[in-house]
Amino acid sequence: ARAKLIVGNWKMYTNAKSSVELAQAVAEGLKDNTQVMVGVCPPFPWLTKVSEAIKGSKLEVGAQNFYPAKEGAFTGEVSPGMLKEAGCTFSIVGHSERRHTLLEPDLLLNRKVKAGIAAGLGIIFCVGELLSEREAGHTEAVLEFQIAAGLAGLTAEQLKLVTIAYEPVWAIGTGKVATPQQAQEVHAFIRKFIAKQFGETVAQSLLIQYGGSVKPDNAAEILKQPDVDGALVGGASLKTDSFLAIVKAA
Ligand code: 13P
Repeated sequence: ARAKLIVGNWKMYTNAKSSVELAQAVAEGLKDNTQVMVGVCPPFPWLTKVSEAIKGSKLEVGAQNFYPAKEGAFTGEVSPGMLKEAGCTFSIVGHSERRHTLLEPDLLLNRKVKAGIAAGLGIIFCVGELLSEREAGHTEAVLEFQIAAGLAGLTAEQLKLVTIAYEPVWAIGTGKVATPQQAQEVHAFIRKFIAKQFGETVAQSLLIQYGGSVKPDNAAEILKQPDVDGALVGGASLKTDSFLAIVKAA
């Protein structure tokens, strides 16, 4: 059986003090938890502080984004190596807010995935369709394209550092969660597509998280679907109690 992975994406929330308090409280709450893997992704400025604050706990710290170069004249950007030095073991890549608000293209996301892996970061690669795409019956085509483009050129070995997060754009921050059946259907489809591209063994061990309005009261139903291996949590990851309740539901 695959392990479960619950990750909190804090987006552009928290401050210097609340980020450390939240991370410490989550780490504390994980003490009796031996099975579920748990991570949080604070904003860049708090990464070092948060990593230091939770050192020795089983909570992992990740980033929300990075630029695919070791260093250079890239004003405003941060490299995978810098993230590692700040205590990150993984990073999100291709979140819908970066695809749609920052207009990051698939080609850039592919370079990010490769650069992150080369630096030894775990990658949570996000995919998901818009409401209009779902309504037009294009969900599977959109996901195939995003995955084929984003993971192009990766070896099966490299794919071991990748988790896919399925985040239907219409469910992010809207309170409109996908039904457990909708999530399962898409996750099974993604796993089949990965099997075609990378082989059955890799596909069977690949973790596929669901994201989009995951809350304590809907987490258990979604997380018990056979192809749902965890959750990428936005809003509900900003409160210790609700985030730990989701971890518990896994
Ligand atoms: P919400 O849980 O706030 O809907 O956000 C989901 C998300 O975008 C996680 O990356």
